[in-house]
Amino acid sequence: MNARQGENSRSPLAFNVMVKPRGAVCNLDCQYCYYLRKEQLYPDGDFRMDDDMLEAFTRQYIRAQQVPEVTFAWQGGEPLLAGLEFFERALQFQQKYSRPGMIIKNAVQTNGVLLDDEWCRFFKRYDFLVGISIDGPHEMHDAYRVDKGGQPTLDRVMAGVEYLNKHNVDFNTLTCVHAANVDYPLEVYRFLRGKVEAHFMQFIPIVLRDNETGFQEGNALTPHSVTGKQYGSFLKTIFDEWVRRDVGTVFVQIFDVALAAWAGESPGLCIFDETCGTAMVLEHNGDLYSCDHFVEPRYYLDNISSRDLTELVTSEQQVRFSHAKRDSLPGYCRECSVKFICNGGCPKNRILSTPDGEPGLNYLCEGYRDLFAHIGPTMQYMAEELREGRSPANIMYVIAQQDARLHMRFATAQRNDPCPCGSGLKFKNCHGR
Ligand code: SF4
Ligand code: SF4
Repeated sequence: MNARQGENSRSPLAFNVMVKPRGAVCNLDCQYCYYLRKEQLYPDGDFRMDDDMLEAFTRQYIRAQQVPEVTFAWQGGEPLLAGLEFFERALQFQQKYSRPGMIIKNAVQTNGVLLDDEWCRFFKRYDFLVGISIDGPHEMHDAYRVDKGGQPTLDRVMAGVEYLNKHNVDFNTLTCVHAANVDYPLEVYRFLRGKVEAHFMQFIPIVLRDNETGFQEGNALTPHSVTGKQYGSFLKTIFDEWVRRDVGTVFVQIFDVALAAWAGESPGLCIFDETCGTAMVLEHNGDLYSCDHFVEPRYYLDNISSRDLTELVTSEQQVRFSHAKRDSLPGYCRECSVKFICNGGCPKNRILSTPDGEPGLNYLCEGYRDLFAHIGPTMQYMAEELREGRSPANIMYVIAQQDARLHMRFATAQRNDPCPCGSGLKFKNCHGR
């Protein structure tokens, strides 16, 4: 999520709120879900956003934005459980409070199993962007994404994808990278590109605390989690395929963000921005929290029926949350050569100590370093193409030529020549074996 603050004022020009119309309620039981346990925060809750709250939020959210474009982001749990009528009313309220010239967009994140003709007709008609959670082929997706009865869900998700494609709904995929798919990057990527026909992909690493509360406490992680090294290797492999054939036709969020950073812009994604805290969460009853990953009492801001959204977004508490990302950055990160893109990553994952013993190093550091070192030269070339007004997709021709030259060197290498792969070994002891 991305947001911008006014330069001369603490009042944000724009911010995002992820709205949970059914709280954490979901029709699936994904084993790595960090949100299901949030139901415990509301033991008496009926987990339904009522019309008064929906209208109050819509009014406050639109009024607070000082930019012409506003996006409503619907999340869960499973937001489609709120029903189509809920979203119809949401659009009516948006229309009621919209200012002249304002563009209002809607984005919804779903597990996909409830999608049908009716939903997809609605999403197409009102130009919703749909995010669909899908982790790869059967053995990878179904390893953890199961229903309440523990049954696999991929077939039902793929039926939902068919509806999206049938109705030409804009969608992107959100793939969690976890212990069951991290060793199969190309299988996952090709599945998304081929079978799902996805053109916009996000790969989110599972780094999940293993504790009773579900809060960001303690350093133990669940077995679904991946290491930094695994995550970096997963993304590097996908990058090597993407950069050879898919630049300009498939958009992978982390590569886009990296390109923006190499082009001298802000990364534009909270985990890689210098500060964060402008993507809050609104629970079904109007409770506002600092971030989707910090829906816990310590990060509770207030209920929007008691205090206005603008006041909460600009409150000392939220500003402190936002700045903590930058202010708690270890010296090791401040001196890192890829700080301009990484900025220490998300605070929720800062559970390691640096080599000199300072706390606050990101658990994924090793992977980020590997990834950004691997893609750096290519990104520099693409950023230069952008600056010169040319297409970054030109990189594919450059790499094709490099690959052809390398291929020729392999084809003509003698047994005792240095191996063209650059290993430093003789060809006969390396690729010529
Ligand atoms: S804590 Fe992490 S996920 Fe939350 S806003 Fe900050 S960077 Fe983003
Ligand atoms: S790569 Fe590691 S050291 Fe560098 S900024 Fe990121 S987390 Fe810090």
